[in-house]
Amino acid sequence: MRLDYLTIFPGYLDALRESLPGKAVDKGLIEVHVHDLRRWTHDRHRTVDDSPFGGGAGMVMRPEPFGEAFDELEVDASTTVVVPTPSGTPLTQELARSLAQRSRLVFCCGRYEGIDQRVLDHAATRAEVVEVSLGDYVLNGGEVAALAVTEAVVRLLPGFMGNAASLVEESHEDGLLEHPVYTRPASWRGLDVPPVLLSGDHARIAAWRRTQAEERTAARRPDLLRPASLGAAGEWHPER
Ligand code: SAM
Repeated sequence: MRLDYLTIFPGYLDALRESLPGKAVDKGLIEVHVHDLRRWTHDRHRTVDDSPFGGGAGMVMRPEPFGEAFDELEVDASTTVVVPTPSGTPLTQELARSLAQRSRLVFCCGRYEGIDQRVLDHAATRAEVVEVSLGDYVLNGGEVAALAVTEAVVRLLPGFMGNAASLVEESHEDGLLEHPVYTRPASWRGLDVPPVLLSGDHARIAAWRRTQAEERTAARRPDLLRPASLGAAGEWHPER
């Protein structure tokens, strides 16, 4: 998978060289290209923004640098342009799985009051455009969101995780939050690991984990439970 990032803060994306994304680059699973959007400006001040038509506070990112970047990077029908924005589709595991199928993602990182709408409209004439929101709050820029989308997507690529089983067991993979996890020591500061986890009985451990996941999801994120799985009083019936 090839990943391109258009940003006015390329240093923000240095994190892509760390940890697992860095290893994915080393393994040849992903190719990462971070571009300073100001490269496609032509004035002395390398301007990327201007005041909004119609008035209002703040500045808007001008369309030309993005357009020139799309041309030079040959953004075409094989590309998915990912635009982080609070107005986008919420980032979920399902969306991450879908994006992990693509061969090329181009992230457009907004700043100020956002990107001129015509950038998205133009991109849609030559590529798929996906607007993604990290959540119902406002960040200063799209870089953090681009990093979050990248982490969620890249760890789903075949060959990325050393142990593919750990992907299957994670929160959201089966529609539930993950059960609590423990490691050594078995007793720490008066807190003991639940005895069932030390029993060696794999069936009992699996059943305990499932129950914990269901109870945790019901308590913390009842919205994740399918309506068909809930009883009239809202109690959880996993077998329904
Ligand atoms: N005026 C915009 C609005 O009200 O929707 C917010 C602009 S925000 C200050 C600047 C940039 O941060 C956005 O263009 C977007 O790239 C990014 N951003 C902010 N919040 C975000 C969120 N919840 N999810 C994804 N990206 C976000």
